[in-house]
Amino acid sequence: TFALSGQKVLVYGLAKSGVAALRLLCQRGARVTALDARSEDALGDVAREVKALGATLVTDPATPGLLESQSLVVVSPGVPLALPELRAAAAAGVPIWGEVELAWRFLESVPLFGITGTNGKSTTTALTGELFVQGKKRTFVGGNLGRPFSEAALSPGDWDALVVELSSFQLEGIQTLRPRGAAILNLTADHIDRYADHGAYGEAKARIFHHQREGDFAVVNADDADVLALARQARVPVYGFSVTGKPVADAPTLAGLAVAEAGGFRLDFQGEKYRLANRALRGAHNAQNAMAATLLARLGGVPAEAVQAGLDSYPGLPHRLESVRVLDGVEWVNDSKATNVDSVLVALRAFQGGLWLIAGGKGKGAPYAPMVEEGRGKVKGVLTIGADSDLLARAYEGQAAVHACGTLAAAVAKARELSKSGDTVLLSPACASYDQFKNFEDRGDSFKRLVGAL
Ligand code: ADP
Repeated sequence: TFALSGQKVLVYGLAKSGVAALRLLCQRGARVTALDARSEDALGDVAREVKALGATLVTDPATPGLLESQSLVVVSPGVPLALPELRAAAAAGVPIWGEVELAWRFLESVPLFGITGTNGKSTTTALTGELFVQGKKRTFVGGNLGRPFSEAALSPGDWDALVVELSSFQLEGIQTLRPRGAAILNLTADHIDRYADHGAYGEAKARIFHHQREGDFAVVNADDADVLALARQARVPVYGFSVTGKPVADAPTLAGLAVAEAGGFRLDFQGEKYRLANRALRGAHNAQNAMAATLLARLGGVPAEAVQAGLDSYPGLPHRLESVRVLDGVEWVNDSKATNVDSVLVALRAFQGGLWLIAGGKGKGAPYAPMVEEGRGKVKGVLTIGADSDLLARAYEGQAAVHACGTLAAAVAKARELSKSGDTVLLSPACASYDQFKNFEDRGDSFKRLVGAL
Protein backbone atom coordinates (compact mmCIF):
# COMPACT_ATOMS: atom_id res chain seq x y z
CA THR A 1 0.00 0.00 0.00
CA PHE A 2 0.75 3.64 -0.22
CA ALA A 3 3.45 4.89 2.20
CA LEU A 4 4.22 8.36 3.48
CA SER A 5 6.60 7.49 6.30
CA GLY A 6 9.33 10.10 6.61
CA GLN A 7 7.97 12.20 3.72
CA LYS A 8 7.57 15.95 4.02
CA VAL A 9 3.87 16.73 3.69
CA LEU A 10 2.11 20.05 4.13
CA VAL A 11 -1.57 20.36 5.04
CA TYR A 12 -3.09 23.61 3.82
CA GLY A 13 -6.14 24.74 5.79
CA LEU A 14 -6.96 23.61 9.30
CA ALA A 15 -10.74 23.38 9.38
CA LYS A 16 -12.35 20.02 10.14
CA SER A 17 -11.10 18.16 7.07
CA GLY A 18 -7.60 19.62 7.27
CA VAL A 19 -7.26 18.58 10.90
CA ALA A 20 -8.47 15.07 9.99
CA ALA A 21 -5.83 14.92 7.24
CA LEU A 22 -3.20 16.11 9.70
CA ARG A 23 -4.07 13.31 12.13
CA LEU A 24 -3.97 10.73 9.35
CA LEU A 25 -0.61 11.93 8.06
CA CYS A 26 0.90 11.89 11.54
CA GLN A 27 -0.48 8.41 12.16
CA ARG A 28 1.26 7.34 8.94
CA GLY A 29 4.59 8.76 10.03
CA ALA A 30 4.84 11.72 7.65
CA ARG A 31 6.82 14.83 8.62
CA VAL A 32 3.95 17.27 8.63
CA THR A 33 3.77 21.04 8.32
CA ALA A 34 0.35 22.53 9.03
CA LEU A 35 -0.45 25.81 7.28
CA ASP A 36 -3.33 28.14 7.99
CA ALA A 37 -3.56 31.89 7.51
CA ARG A 38 -5.19 32.37 10.92
CA SER A 39 -3.00 33.35 13.85
CA GLU A 40 -1.95 30.82 16.44
CA ASP A 41 -4.30 32.52 18.91
CA ALA A 42 -7.24 32.30 16.58
CA LEU A 43 -6.46 28.63 15.90
CA GLY A 44 -6.55 27.88 19.64
CA ASP A 45 -7.09 24.16 20.25
CA VAL A 46 -6.11 23.35 16.68
CA ALA A 47 -2.70 24.99 17.16
CA ARG A 48 -2.25 22.99 20.36
CA GLU A 49 -3.15 19.76 18.58
CA VAL A 50 -0.67 20.48 15.76
CA LYS A 51 2.08 20.73 18.34
CA ALA A 52 0.92 17.74 20.38
CA LEU A 53 1.10 15.67 17.19
CA GLY A 54 4.68 16.81 16.61
CA ALA A 55 3.84 18.76 13.45
CA THR A 56 5.10 22.25 12.59
CA LEU A 57 2.64 25.13 12.50
CA VAL A 58 3.05 27.91 9.92
CA THR A 59 0.61 30.83 9.68
CA ASP A 60 2.10 32.75 6.76
CA PRO A 61 1.22 31.21 3.36
CA ALA A 62 3.79 33.53 1.74
CA THR A 63 6.72 31.93 3.59
CA PRO A 64 9.31 31.63 0.76
CA GLY A 65 9.88 28.12 -0.57
CA LEU A 66 7.48 26.59 1.95
CA LEU A 67 5.29 24.66 -0.47
CA GLU A 68 7.98 23.96 -3.08
CA SER A 69 10.08 22.08 -0.51
CA GLN A 70 7.38 19.47 0.20
CA SER A 71 6.94 15.97 -1.23
CA LEU A 72 3.18 16.47 -1.14
CA VAL A 73 0.67 19.21 -0.37
CA VAL A 74 -2.78 18.23 0.93
CA VAL A 75 -5.45 20.89 0.56
CA SER A 76 -8.61 21.36 2.62
CA PRO A 77 -11.79 21.78 0.57
CA GLY A 78 -12.13 25.39 1.75
CA VAL A 79 -8.81 26.42 0.18
CA PRO A 80 -9.03 27.36 -3.53
CA LEU A 81 -6.58 25.46 -5.73
CA ALA A 82 -6.10 28.64 -7.74
CA LEU A 83 -4.10 30.35 -4.96
CA PRO A 84 -0.77 31.60 -6.35
CA GLU A 85 1.32 29.64 -3.84
CA LEU A 86 -0.46 26.41 -4.80
CA ARG A 87 -0.01 27.10 -8.50
CA ALA A 88 3.68 27.78 -7.95
CA ALA A 89 4.10 24.53 -6.02
CA ALA A 90 2.27 22.59 -8.73
CA ALA A 91 4.49 24.21 -11.37
CA ALA A 92 7.52 23.12 -9.33
CA GLY A 93 6.27 19.53 -9.59
CA VAL A 94 4.83 19.10 -6.09
CA PRO A 95 1.70 16.91 -6.14
CA ILE A 96 -1.32 18.80 -4.83
CA TRP A 97 -4.09 16.59 -3.51
CA GLY A 98 -7.41 17.31 -1.90
CA GLU A 99 -8.07 15.83 1.51
CA VAL A 100 -10.39 13.17 0.05
CA GLU A 101 -7.69 12.05 -2.40
CA LEU A 102 -5.28 11.55 0.48
CA ALA A 103 -7.80 9.40 2.35
CA TRP A 104 -8.57 7.42 -0.80
CA ARG A 105 -4.93 6.33 -1.18
CA PHE A 106 -5.33 4.27 1.98
CA LEU A 107 -8.78 2.95 1.11
CA GLU A 108 -8.48 1.92 -2.53
CA SER A 109 -9.58 -1.65 -1.88
CA VAL A 110 -12.92 -0.66 -0.29
CA PRO A 111 -15.88 0.05 -2.61
CA LEU A 112 -16.67 3.77 -2.55
CA PHE A 113 -20.06 5.26 -3.35
CA GLY A 114 -19.74 8.97 -4.11
CA ILE A 115 -22.56 11.50 -4.21
CA THR A 116 -22.47 15.00 -5.60
CA GLY A 117 -24.90 17.61 -6.92
CA THR A 118 -26.10 21.07 -5.96
CA ASN A 119 -28.90 19.98 -3.62
CA GLY A 120 -29.75 16.80 -1.75
CA LYS A 121 -26.19 15.54 -1.26
CA SER A 122 -26.43 15.21 2.51
CA THR A 123 -29.85 13.57 2.46
CA THR A 124 -28.83 11.10 -0.24
CA THR A 125 -25.54 10.31 1.49
CA ALA A 126 -27.19 9.69 4.86
CA LEU A 127 -29.92 7.59 3.23
CA THR A 128 -27.48 5.56 1.12
CA GLY A 129 -25.51 4.91 4.30
CA GLU A 130 -28.67 3.65 5.97
CA LEU A 131 -29.36 1.26 3.08
CA PHE A 132 -25.85 -0.21 3.26
CA VAL A 133 -26.12 -0.57 7.04
CA GLN A 134 -29.43 -2.40 6.63
CA GLY A 135 -27.56 -4.61 4.14
CA LYS A 136 -25.22 -5.54 7.00
CA LYS A 137 -22.22 -3.78 5.50
CA ARG A 138 -19.77 -2.06 7.83
CA THR A 139 -20.25 1.38 6.34
CA PHE A 140 -18.38 4.65 6.67
CA VAL A 141 -20.70 7.61 6.01
CA GLY A 142 -19.12 11.03 5.70
CA GLY A 143 -17.07 13.34 3.53
CA ASN A 144 -18.54 16.78 3.05
CA LEU A 145 -21.19 15.81 5.62
CA GLY A 146 -20.42 14.68 9.16
CA ARG A 147 -17.08 12.93 9.51
CA PRO A 148 -14.21 13.94 7.18
CA PHE A 149 -13.22 11.13 4.81
CA SER A 150 -9.72 11.01 6.33
CA GLU A 151 -11.24 9.53 9.48
CA ALA A 152 -12.16 6.42 7.48
CA ALA A 153 -8.50 6.03 6.51
CA LEU A 154 -7.35 5.86 10.13
CA SER A 155 -8.66 2.27 10.19
CA PRO A 156 -9.17 1.04 6.60
CA GLY A 157 -9.87 -2.52 7.73
CA ASP A 158 -13.05 -1.43 9.46
CA TRP A 159 -15.09 -0.87 6.30
CA ASP A 160 -17.02 -2.90 3.73
CA ALA A 161 -18.35 0.24 2.04
CA LEU A 162 -17.59 3.96 1.93
CA VAL A 163 -20.53 6.29 1.33
CA VAL A 164 -19.10 9.73 0.71
CA GLU A 165 -20.63 13.12 0.02
CA LEU A 166 -18.37 14.99 -2.41
CA SER A 167 -18.68 18.73 -2.95
CA SER A 168 -17.44 20.24 -6.19
CA PHE A 169 -14.54 21.75 -4.22
CA GLN A 170 -13.54 18.29 -3.03
CA LEU A 171 -13.85 16.87 -6.54
CA GLU A 172 -11.45 19.51 -7.85
CA GLY A 173 -8.78 17.99 -5.61
CA ILE A 174 -9.04 14.32 -6.65
CA GLN A 175 -6.40 12.64 -8.85
CA THR A 176 -7.27 8.94 -8.72
CA LEU A 177 -10.34 8.60 -6.48
CA ARG A 178 -12.50 5.98 -8.11
CA PRO A 179 -16.08 5.50 -7.01
CA ARG A 180 -17.56 2.07 -7.65
CA GLY A 181 -20.85 3.98 -7.87
CA ALA A 182 -20.88 7.72 -8.67
CA ALA A 183 -24.05 9.82 -8.47
CA ILE A 184 -24.82 13.35 -9.69
CA LEU A 185 -28.17 14.50 -8.32
CA ASN A 186 -28.74 17.86 -10.02
CA LEU A 187 -26.99 20.99 -11.15
CA THR A 188 -28.25 24.52 -10.51
CA ALA A 189 -26.55 27.89 -10.25
CA ASP A 190 -24.46 27.91 -7.08
CA HIS A 191 -20.98 28.89 -5.95
CA ILE A 192 -20.68 31.29 -8.84
CA ASP A 193 -18.24 33.14 -6.60
CA ARG A 194 -15.72 30.36 -7.09
CA TYR A 195 -16.48 29.24 -10.63
CA ALA A 196 -16.05 31.19 -13.82
CA ASP A 197 -19.44 29.98 -15.05
CA HIS A 198 -22.03 27.24 -14.84
CA GLY A 199 -19.97 25.11 -17.23
CA ALA A 200 -16.89 25.16 -15.02
CA TYR A 201 -19.02 24.20 -12.02
CA GLY A 202 -20.48 21.26 -13.94
CA GLU A 203 -17.02 20.16 -15.07
CA ALA A 204 -15.89 20.02 -11.43
CA LYS A 205 -18.84 17.74 -10.67
CA ALA A 206 -18.16 15.51 -13.70
CA ARG A 207 -14.73 14.69 -12.25
CA ILE A 208 -16.57 12.16 -10.09
CA PHE A 209 -16.72 9.92 -13.22
CA HIS A 210 -13.18 10.40 -14.50
CA HIS A 211 -11.37 7.53 -12.76
CA GLN A 212 -14.12 4.95 -12.94
CA ARG A 213 -13.31 1.66 -14.65
CA GLU A 214 -14.93 -1.53 -15.76
CA GLY A 215 -17.27 -2.89 -13.11
CA ASP A 216 -18.19 0.59 -11.86
CA PHE A 217 -21.40 2.48 -12.59
CA ALA A 218 -22.88 5.96 -12.67
CA VAL A 219 -26.23 7.26 -11.38
CA VAL A 220 -27.72 10.47 -12.77
CA ASN A 221 -30.87 12.55 -12.65
CA ALA A 222 -32.60 11.74 -15.94
CA ASP A 223 -34.89 14.77 -15.60
CA ASP A 224 -31.95 17.20 -15.58
CA ALA A 225 -30.53 17.97 -19.04
CA ASP A 226 -27.31 19.46 -17.65
CA VAL A 227 -26.62 16.35 -15.57
CA LEU A 228 -27.35 14.08 -18.53
CA ALA A 229 -24.89 16.06 -20.61
CA LEU A 230 -22.20 15.45 -17.96
CA ALA A 231 -23.09 11.75 -17.96
CA ARG A 232 -21.54 11.56 -21.43
CA GLN A 233 -18.19 11.79 -19.65
CA ALA A 234 -18.86 8.51 -17.82
CA ARG A 235 -17.20 5.45 -19.35
CA VAL A 236 -19.28 2.99 -17.33
CA PRO A 237 -22.96 1.96 -17.45
CA VAL A 238 -25.16 4.92 -16.57
CA TYR A 239 -28.39 4.45 -14.60
CA GLY A 240 -30.97 7.20 -14.38
CA PHE A 241 -33.72 8.20 -12.00
CA SER A 242 -36.77 10.12 -13.06
CA VAL A 243 -39.84 11.63 -11.49
CA THR A 244 -41.45 12.24 -14.88
CA GLY A 245 -40.68 8.82 -16.37
CA LYS A 246 -39.72 10.60 -19.60
CA PRO A 247 -35.97 11.20 -19.82
CA VAL A 248 -35.25 14.46 -21.64
CA ALA A 249 -34.74 14.39 -25.38
CA ASP A 250 -31.31 13.50 -26.63
CA ALA A 251 -30.39 11.65 -23.43
CA PRO A 252 -27.47 9.23 -23.53
CA THR A 253 -28.41 5.57 -23.52
CA LEU A 254 -29.22 4.45 -20.00
CA ALA A 255 -28.50 0.99 -18.65
CA GLY A 256 -31.63 1.27 -16.53
CA LEU A 257 -34.06 3.72 -15.01
CA ALA A 258 -35.69 4.20 -11.62
CA VAL A 259 -39.11 5.76 -12.12
CA ALA A 260 -41.38 7.38 -9.54
CA GLU A 261 -44.93 6.08 -9.30
CA ALA A 262 -47.79 6.48 -6.83
CA GLY A 263 -46.54 5.62 -3.34
CA GLY A 264 -42.98 4.81 -4.39
CA PHE A 265 -40.87 3.92 -7.41
CA ARG A 266 -39.76 1.01 -9.53
CA LEU A 267 -36.55 -0.08 -11.21
CA ASP A 268 -37.38 -0.75 -14.84
CA PHE A 269 -34.36 -2.98 -15.42
CA GLN A 270 -35.17 -5.58 -12.81
CA GLY A 271 -38.89 -5.23 -12.17
CA GLU A 272 -38.48 -4.27 -8.52
CA LYS A 273 -40.86 -1.93 -6.73
CA TYR A 274 -40.16 0.06 -3.60
CA ARG A 275 -42.57 1.72 -1.19
CA LEU A 276 -41.86 5.28 -0.09
CA ALA A 277 -44.00 5.87 2.98
CA ASN A 278 -41.39 7.36 5.31
CA ARG A 279 -42.33 10.87 6.48
CA ALA A 280 -38.64 11.80 6.53
CA LEU A 281 -38.64 11.34 2.74
CA ARG A 282 -41.73 13.26 1.68
CA GLY A 283 -41.77 15.37 -1.44
CA ALA A 284 -40.73 14.76 -5.03
CA HIS A 285 -37.19 15.92 -4.26
CA ASN A 286 -36.84 13.18 -1.67
CA ALA A 287 -38.23 10.65 -4.12
CA GLN A 288 -35.27 11.62 -6.32
CA ASN A 289 -32.87 11.27 -3.41
CA ALA A 290 -34.40 7.89 -2.53
CA MET A 291 -34.13 6.62 -6.10
CA ALA A 292 -30.48 7.70 -6.32
CA ALA A 293 -29.69 6.02 -2.99
CA THR A 294 -31.52 2.85 -4.02
CA LEU A 295 -29.61 2.61 -7.32
CA LEU A 296 -26.30 3.05 -5.51
CA ALA A 297 -27.18 0.44 -2.91
CA ARG A 298 -28.81 -2.15 -5.20
CA LEU A 299 -26.05 -1.96 -7.82
CA GLY A 300 -23.56 -1.88 -4.95
CA GLY A 301 -24.73 -5.24 -3.67
CA VAL A 302 -27.39 -4.48 -1.05
CA PRO A 303 -30.33 -6.93 -1.26
CA ALA A 304 -33.76 -5.54 -2.19
CA GLU A 305 -35.32 -6.34 1.21
CA ALA A 306 -32.54 -4.46 2.99
CA VAL A 307 -33.06 -1.47 0.70
CA GLN A 308 -36.78 -1.42 1.53
CA ALA A 309 -35.99 -1.75 5.24
CA GLY A 310 -33.61 1.22 5.01
CA LEU A 311 -36.10 3.37 3.10
CA ASP A 312 -38.54 2.71 5.95
CA SER A 313 -36.11 3.17 8.84
CA TYR A 314 -34.20 6.24 7.58
CA PRO A 315 -34.58 8.78 10.39
CA GLY A 316 -33.99 11.92 8.29
CA LEU A 317 -31.53 14.73 8.87
CA PRO A 318 -32.34 17.57 11.23
CA HIS A 319 -33.60 20.88 9.76
CA ARG A 320 -34.70 19.39 6.43
CA LEU A 321 -38.49 18.98 6.47
CA GLU A 322 -38.02 17.52 9.93
CA SER A 323 -41.27 16.54 11.60
CA VAL A 324 -41.02 17.93 15.12
CA ARG A 325 -44.36 17.21 16.71
CA VAL A 326 -48.05 16.60 16.07
CA LEU A 327 -50.09 18.58 18.59
CA ASP A 328 -53.91 18.65 18.51
CA GLY A 329 -53.79 17.36 14.94
CA VAL A 330 -51.35 20.05 13.76
CA GLU A 331 -47.96 18.92 12.46
CA TRP A 332 -44.97 21.19 13.15
CA VAL A 333 -42.16 20.90 10.61
CA ASN A 334 -38.63 22.31 10.90
CA ASP A 335 -37.11 23.16 7.51
CA SER A 336 -34.60 25.69 8.84
CA LYS A 337 -32.03 24.52 6.24
CA ALA A 338 -34.17 26.30 3.62
CA THR A 339 -32.08 29.47 3.47
CA ASN A 340 -33.10 30.41 -0.08
CA VAL A 341 -36.28 30.65 -2.14
CA ASP A 342 -35.56 27.51 -4.19
CA SER A 343 -35.49 25.37 -1.06
CA VAL A 344 -38.84 26.80 0.03
CA LEU A 345 -40.32 25.86 -3.36
CA VAL A 346 -39.14 22.29 -2.83
CA ALA A 347 -40.73 22.29 0.62
CA LEU A 348 -44.06 23.75 -0.53
CA ARG A 349 -44.31 21.11 -3.26
CA ALA A 350 -44.06 18.41 -0.59
CA PHE A 351 -47.42 19.44 0.98
CA GLN A 352 -51.00 19.39 -0.28
CA GLY A 353 -52.27 22.43 1.64
CA GLY A 354 -53.28 23.71 5.08
CA LEU A 355 -49.92 25.41 5.58
CA TRP A 356 -48.90 28.13 8.00
CA LEU A 357 -45.54 29.30 6.73
CA ILE A 358 -42.98 30.87 9.06
CA ALA A 359 -40.46 32.75 6.90
CA GLY A 360 -37.98 35.60 7.01
CA GLY A 361 -34.54 36.47 8.27
CA LYS A 362 -31.59 37.87 6.41
CA GLY A 363 -32.72 37.69 2.79
CA LYS A 364 -30.46 36.95 -0.14
CA GLY A 365 -31.98 39.44 -2.55
CA ALA A 366 -33.84 36.92 -4.74
CA PRO A 367 -37.49 37.74 -5.46
CA TYR A 368 -40.09 36.06 -3.24
CA ALA A 369 -42.72 35.96 -6.00
CA PRO A 370 -42.02 32.30 -6.96
CA MET A 371 -42.82 31.10 -3.44
CA VAL A 372 -45.98 33.17 -3.37
CA GLU A 373 -46.96 31.48 -6.64
CA GLU A 374 -46.05 27.96 -5.50
CA GLY A 375 -47.98 28.42 -2.26
CA ARG A 376 -51.21 29.55 -3.93
CA GLY A 377 -54.10 27.49 -2.53
CA LYS A 378 -51.76 25.79 -0.06
CA VAL A 379 -50.60 28.56 2.27
CA LYS A 380 -53.31 29.76 4.67
CA GLY A 381 -51.11 32.43 6.18
CA VAL A 382 -47.55 33.67 6.48
CA LEU A 383 -45.87 34.53 9.76
CA THR A 384 -42.86 36.75 9.18
CA ILE A 385 -39.72 37.06 11.30
CA GLY A 386 -36.47 38.97 11.06
CA ALA A 387 -34.95 41.51 8.72
CA ASP A 388 -36.82 40.68 5.51
CA SER A 389 -40.31 40.81 7.07
CA ASP A 390 -41.42 43.86 5.10
CA LEU A 391 -40.19 42.50 1.77
CA LEU A 392 -42.07 39.26 2.39
CA ALA A 393 -45.20 41.12 3.44
CA ARG A 394 -45.07 43.13 0.22
CA ALA A 395 -44.63 39.97 -1.89
CA TYR A 396 -47.67 38.32 -0.27
CA GLU A 397 -49.86 41.43 -0.37
CA GLY A 398 -53.30 40.49 -1.64
CA GLN A 399 -52.20 36.82 -1.97
CA ALA A 400 -52.22 35.48 1.60
CA ALA A 401 -52.75 36.79 5.12
CA VAL A 402 -49.47 38.03 6.57
CA HIS A 403 -48.80 38.31 10.29
CA ALA A 404 -45.73 40.32 11.20
CA CYS A 405 -44.35 38.48 14.22
CA GLY A 406 -40.80 39.78 14.47
CA THR A 407 -39.38 36.89 16.46
CA LEU A 408 -39.57 33.14 16.05
CA ALA A 409 -41.13 32.83 19.52
CA ALA A 410 -43.94 35.18 18.54
CA ALA A 411 -44.44 33.35 15.24
CA VAL A 412 -44.75 30.00 17.00
CA ALA A 413 -47.27 31.44 19.45
CA LYS A 414 -49.28 32.99 16.61
CA ALA A 415 -49.22 29.77 14.59
CA ARG A 416 -50.47 27.84 17.61
CA GLU A 417 -53.38 30.26 17.85
CA LEU A 418 -54.29 30.19 14.15
CA SER A 419 -53.77 26.55 13.16
CA LYS A 420 -56.50 23.90 13.18
CA SER A 421 -56.40 20.10 13.21
CA GLY A 422 -55.11 18.84 9.85
CA ASP A 423 -52.94 21.92 9.28
CA THR A 424 -49.15 22.05 9.11
CA VAL A 425 -46.92 24.74 10.56
CA LEU A 426 -43.81 24.93 8.40
CA LEU A 427 -40.66 26.84 9.31
CA SER A 428 -39.07 27.27 5.87
CA PRO A 429 -37.53 30.72 6.08
CA ALA A 430 -36.16 31.42 2.56
CA CYS A 431 -33.51 33.48 4.33
CA ALA A 432 -30.24 33.18 6.19
CA SER A 433 -30.53 33.29 9.95
CA TYR A 434 -27.65 35.56 10.93
CA ASP A 435 -29.81 38.55 11.87
CA GLN A 436 -31.33 36.62 14.81
CA PHE A 437 -29.44 33.33 15.19
CA LYS A 438 -25.93 31.88 15.03
CA ASN A 439 -26.78 29.72 12.01
CA PHE A 440 -29.62 27.68 10.54
CA GLU A 441 -29.05 24.88 13.06
CA ASP A 442 -29.45 27.32 15.93
CA ARG A 443 -32.67 28.63 14.34
CA GLY A 444 -34.05 25.11 13.86
CA ASP A 445 -33.10 24.07 17.38
CA SER A 446 -34.84 27.16 18.78
CA PHE A 447 -37.94 26.24 16.79
CA LYS A 448 -37.88 22.71 18.18
CA ARG A 449 -37.52 24.00 21.74
CA LEU A 450 -40.40 26.45 21.30
CA VAL A 451 -42.63 23.81 19.74
CA GLY A 452 -41.67 21.27 22.39
CA ALA A 453 -42.77 23.71 25.08
CA LEU A 454 -46.26 24.26 23.62
P1 ADP B 1 -26.93 19.43 0.34
O1 ADP B 1 -26.08 18.57 1.22
O2 ADP B 1 -26.62 19.23 -1.11
O3 ADP B 1 -27.01 20.87 0.74
P2 ADP B 1 -29.37 18.51 1.70
O4 ADP B 1 -29.74 17.09 1.63
O5 ADP B 1 -28.81 19.03 2.95
O6 ADP B 1 -28.42 18.86 0.46
O7 ADP B 1 -30.64 19.38 1.30
C1 ADP B 1 -30.57 20.78 1.33
C2 ADP B 1 -31.84 21.39 0.78
O8 ADP B 1 -31.91 21.16 -0.61
C3 ADP B 1 -33.11 20.77 1.34
O9 ADP B 1 -33.51 21.47 2.50
C4 ADP B 1 -34.09 20.91 0.21
O10 ADP B 1 -34.67 22.18 0.25
C5 ADP B 1 -33.23 20.86 -1.03
N1 ADP B 1 -33.17 19.53 -1.69
C6 ADP B 1 -32.91 18.32 -1.13
N2 ADP B 1 -32.90 17.36 -2.05
C7 ADP B 1 -33.15 17.94 -3.23
C8 ADP B 1 -33.24 17.47 -4.58
N3 ADP B 1 -33.08 16.18 -4.88
N4 ADP B 1 -33.52 18.38 -5.54
C9 ADP B 1 -33.67 19.68 -5.25
N5 ADP B 1 -33.58 20.18 -4.02
C10 ADP B 1 -33.33 19.34 -3.01
